[in-house]
Amino acid sequence: MTERQPNEASEYSRAPTILVVDDDTTICRYCSKALRNVGYQVVDTTSGLVALDYMRHQVFDLLLTDIKMPEMSGLELARQARALNPGLAVIIMTGQTTLETLREAVQQGVTSYLSKPFEIEEMRLTVAQVLHQRAMVLQKVKLEAIVHQLELSSAFNRTLSLSELCGEIVRVTNSEIGCKFGYFLLQQPDEAPRLLMGQANHPQLNEAGWQLLQETYQQQQPIQTTLNLANTEHNVITFPLRVGGAMIGSALFDYTEALPSAQIEGMMLLLNQAASALNNAQLFTRVQEANGRLQELDRLKSEFISITSHELRTPLAVVLGYGIVIQERSEQPIRTYLDRLVESAQRMKEIIDDMTHLRRLDTRQTELQVEPIVLDELLYEVIEQMQGLAQKKAQTISLATPPDALCTLYADRAKIALVLMSLLSNAMKFTPAEGIITLRAWCETVQAVPYEHTYFKGTLQPGPWVFVSISDSGIGIPESQLQRIFDRFYQVAQSLTREYGGTGVGLALVQGLVALHNGHVWVQSEEGRGSTFTVALPQRGL
Ligand code: ADP
Repeated sequence: MTERQPNEASEYSRAPTILVVDDDTTICRYCSKALRNVGYQVVDTTSGLVALDYMRHQVFDLLLTDIKMPEMSGLELARQARALNPGLAVIIMTGQTTLETLREAVQQGVTSYLSKPFEIEEMRLTVAQVLHQRAMVLQKVKLEAIVHQLELSSAFNRTLSLSELCGEIVRVTNSEIGCKFGYFLLQQPDEAPRLLMGQANHPQLNEAGWQLLQETYQQQQPIQTTLNLANTEHNVITFPLRVGGAMIGSALFDYTEALPSAQIEGMMLLLNQAASALNNAQLFTRVQEANGRLQELDRLKSEFISITSHELRTPLAVVLGYGIVIQERSEQPIRTYLDRLVESAQRMKEIIDDMTHLRRLDTRQTELQVEPIVLDELLYEVIEQMQGLAQKKAQTISLATPPDALCTLYADRAKIALVLMSLLSNAMKFTPAEGIITLRAWCETVQAVPYEHTYFKGTLQPGPWVFVSISDSGIGIPESQLQRIFDRFYQVAQSLTREYGGTGVGLALVQGLVALHNGHVWVQSEEGRGSTFTVALPQRGL
């Protein structure tokens, strides 16, 4: 075995400390010097009583003591020393070793012995070995403590409710230090501190308790003191609550029996786990609260839109009705003004109609009037209706499917027309003047699930389906936005600048109406090159 030097003993974060005791001054100095020469921190004395006094003020790793001394024997010194520091390693130096001495030595926790006279190298080797063994034992003990803490703290991961979690932490702490109550002060930047209690029948925390928790948070250190709560004096200990180096609050517990430093260290470890769990639970609560607020906002927004649309319908119908009557009877130049007035009122009516449709979908009031639809007729009709707008931008709408490739579709004619017109209107809006918009339609029997089609992620039931796609050569949609454009009121950035106008309702309505037919709609797009929206509907209706 190679000799272990203190600088090799990587188990120790600093040079190990050794107390050498021998009433023979020469041996005492000789040992002490030899150990100091190889880097140990050594204190020596010729008196057992002085040695005990040293040990009351300093923690040593090893005691190297003579066995026969006038004031007290080495074995008695070892006994008292280990009572002060149970982790202390002890080597005794003895002239004659009897079996009886050895047995007693083992009982006093002596780790090894050196028979006098010994060589200096022999002593160094024994010291190095004993220190190494001690480090191993300490590491094992530490590891066991960590495993124990982890087992305890696994209870913290069972809940994300803050109040349940505080109860759980007090329960675990009770098994460790016998506490009856616990308080947690959680502090977040820009928020008022939040006090939580870990037990149902708790005394109210008073001003002094609050101050203790605040002090612990500021000093980032445990504080042990007494606290008078509900006219009873309690021993209390506080701990900082830290997550990844950042302080999130502090905790206070009562305890009954004195807490050795190892137990406080264990508690700090445990509370680190508790702090992470509290932090997660806080984040979860905040997300839930934010989600609740968003849902409420969404509900209020829908409510507002619904009421506004409803209230606007009647006066708008009057404006539009009289506008058309006067428009028909008027002469130029008044006629041009009235054309604009009626056109604008029509646009307002479309927006209000969209909102009303959406509201009906939300409240499940939309009913489908399913009827046989000759597909090419419907497509020609829709194109016809949009032709006027297309001409204004000198755009071409073409139908790229021969009529004989089409079949009869069973669906709600008005609603499917609305879907196609909405998609066509978008295609025209986002395509520059003189651009081309192409409609394709086909009937196909889906054989197997899942049906695979470019950009379609979903399942089409086997059976006959009708597909209609509308392709434009417009601005296209960035890939990151493709999923979101179907959300109500969602518009891609350029639309928000009002360059293209719109309300962000059209696609939400399209999706809602298509879904009502058990169909699907999806988009494929390339920025700057154009988009294709495809609608798939079960041919035989619902
Ligand atoms: P609106 O067109 O009224 O804004 P929609 O719900 O119909 O609302 O469309 C939502 C958004 O999707 C549009 O604002 C636009 O950003 C984008 N979009 C829809 N259709 C197209 C298209 N054919 N080409 C480019 N972007 C489109």
